[in-house]
Amino acid sequence: MRAMTVIPGRPDSAELSELPNPQPKDGELLVEPLYLGVCGTDREIIEGGHGEPPPGRERLLLGHELLARVKQGGAGFEPGQLVAAIVRRPDPVPCACCAQGEWDMCRNGQYTERGIKALDGYGAELVTLEADFAVPIPDELGTFGVLTEPSSILAKAWEQIERISRRACSAHERVLVTGGGPIGLLAALMGAQRGLEVHVLDRSTEGPKPEAVHALGAQYHAGDIAEVAEEVQPDVVVECTGVAELVAGAMQHTAPGAIVCLAGVASSRTLSVDVGALNNELVLENDVVFGSVNANRRHFEQAVGSLREADPDWLGRLITRKVPLERWAEALQKHDEDIKVVVEFAQR
Ligand code: BGC
Repeated sequence: MRAMTVIPGRPDSAELSELPNPQPKDGELLVEPLYLGVCGTDREIIEGGHGEPPPGRERLLLGHELLARVKQGGAGFEPGQLVAAIVRRPDPVPCACCAQGEWDMCRNGQYTERGIKALDGYGAELVTLEADFAVPIPDELGTFGVLTEPSSILAKAWEQIERISRRACSAHERVLVTGGGPIGLLAALMGAQRGLEVHVLDRSTEGPKPEAVHALGAQYHAGDIAEVAEEVQPDVVVECTGVAELVAGAMQHTAPGAIVCLAGVASSRTLSVDVGALNNELVLENDVVFGSVNANRRHFEQAVGSLREADPDWLGRLITRKVPLERWAEALQKHDEDIKVVVEFAQR
């Protein structure tokens, strides 16, 4: 079978490798991928910022945003059924969080992640998937089931925002999302589904991103973060870019009692920030800044719920490019009009 592999940290090492078909073990399903989303993490793995091959190996089978059809079922999964796949596996110790199925909150860092950290991913023509980490996808979601994994990241982020917001005396009302890529747009979708006033800030001034934001009934901004935040006065910020200026801006310009969720991964960047003023903004306004990564089973299920509630035409706007498996490396190239790019597997 053909598989998308890379040597983490070695540029230009992406290739379509020929590998033996995997054999499912007890408790595992054999699934045939239909679509696989690619994201910034995949790019970072190729560029060397992230990622680790399985022990004793040089190459990592890439891919963690899976929509697949079950070929050999078991544990309640039937052949033909659509599934998405959970990314993280609990650490073997396990820590208190992993022991409770909250591996997204792993406390000792010994978790593994398929397609990212020490485990092969899902970018191959046949994949084995532990039934305990498969997520049923209703047929009506079809292709859009490929958005389950990125949506799970936001379901987790919103769950945490809601937990933090319980300490406040009144509900949070206005969210500013920084970044109009798939993560930002899914954050905006979930903000709109919660009835909040939603604002999205991105660099694009035209094209699919502003259109997708407007179609949610949300407001789109392309200006400077400080000016936009001064005008919007967000009491929730979901920072989805990891861009240093936006991270600093997201913390500095909020309404009192704001909750700032940092959900993007940053590359190294030095900025001059007035830490005293930032401290005072956070302290004197009872703001909370927190980081959020990954998702557990509950979040995958919440993600499926959000996608089912969303307008299918709107979800369709998010998938802007489909690249066949043989040319998968092209999926990782950035095009101006891209939102979510997926690798498409031929049906056999
Ligand atoms: C994935 C997460 C993962 C994170 C860090 C993200 O792209 O969606 O599941 O935990 O990268 O590896």
